[in-house]
Amino acid sequence: MAQIKNIGLFTSGGDAPGMNSAIRAVVRAALFHDIKVTGIRRGYEGMIHGDLFPMDRKSVSNIIQRGGTILKTARSEQFKTVEGRKLAYSQLKEFNVDALIAIGGDGTFRGAKAFGDEFDMPILGLPGTIDNDLMGTDFTIGYDTAINTVMNAVDKIRDTAESHDRLFIVEVMGRDSGMIALRTGIASGAEAILIPESKTGLTNLFDRLENGRKDKTSRIVIVAEGEGEEGGAFEIGRLVKEKFPNYDTRVSILGHIQRGGKPTCMDRVLASRVGVAAVEALMAGYRNEMVGVIHNEISFTPFEHAIKHNTDIDPNFLKIVEMLSL
Ligand code: ADP
Repeated sequence: MAQIKNIGLFTSGGDAPGMNSAIRAVVRAALFHDIKVTGIRRGYEGMIHGDLFPMDRKSVSNIIQRGGTILKTARSEQFKTVEGRKLAYSQLKEFNVDALIAIGGDGTFRGAKAFGDEFDMPILGLPGTIDNDLMGTDFTIGYDTAINTVMNAVDKIRDTAESHDRLFIVEVMGRDSGMIALRTGIASGAEAILIPESKTGLTNLFDRLENGRKDKTSRIVIVAEGEGEEGGAFEIGRLVKEKFPNYDTRVSILGHIQRGGKPTCMDRVLASRVGVAAVEALMAGYRNEMVGVIHNEISFTPFEHAIKHNTDIDPNFLKIVEMLSL
């Protein structure tokens, strides 16, 4: 096993708060172990175009608390082709990079798996996505920040809902995953949540509005963006208005505010732990795996398992929403 001398580091796919904390952790842990770090801007796209630069301890100072990613992120169609990945490999060789750490979500790890299968270069992944939809880690970097942002926004919506006796349909992020909706639904005392993993959400909501208590002064319904065949929350809002014209129904889409902001303490600590673990795992010869935390212990999961979409929604969570919104 060759000794690692120069780690290429990049963020890719959707940005998430805490990516900067992870970048800092990787750079500082590598320098601690006398390993160089080469930053790669704009993910696989920057890799293909040779947008690489040496990083030192100062290039990551004062970023642990900043949202977004100083390395920028991008999507790359070219990297999905063998030719694109060949170009990327030759750029990495040009800069003497001999190992990679990728921070991103399932798409990023699909790319990492393809790359790791084709070329002799160890690559490890750090779970960076607000969606919390990866196998092999209890939480992803960015999820805790995103759910706190959503909770605080819904608290504000609750104030106006309460003042006007309104029903609010609030759309949160999660195209294929209800993880954000599930926790924020509980935390903001929602009447109901509608998520892609459960097909009975709309029926349950209609049943509650039909047969539930009528003296409520405000109602919040949290909808994951993948719900409602065409229009997400607007589609659901239209159906509710049609069936229950007596309710004063409004729709609110939270949108991109969910991606930004200062990472929470939980996300900074998670990012720092997996960042350090990834550097030390590369030194120990690990490759083609995602580094996560399960039951508060560092764990390693092959990319092909990590990207199996995590649809394990705890049914108790759905029950809690229903029971507590009596
Ligand atoms: P995320 O990592 O947040 O899920 P994307 O799904 O956009 O983000 O993936 C990020 C990038 O990973 C894509 O733009 C593409 O370059 C690369 N990628 C995704 N899927 C594959 C694949 N099957 N093969 C090679 N590269 C891929």
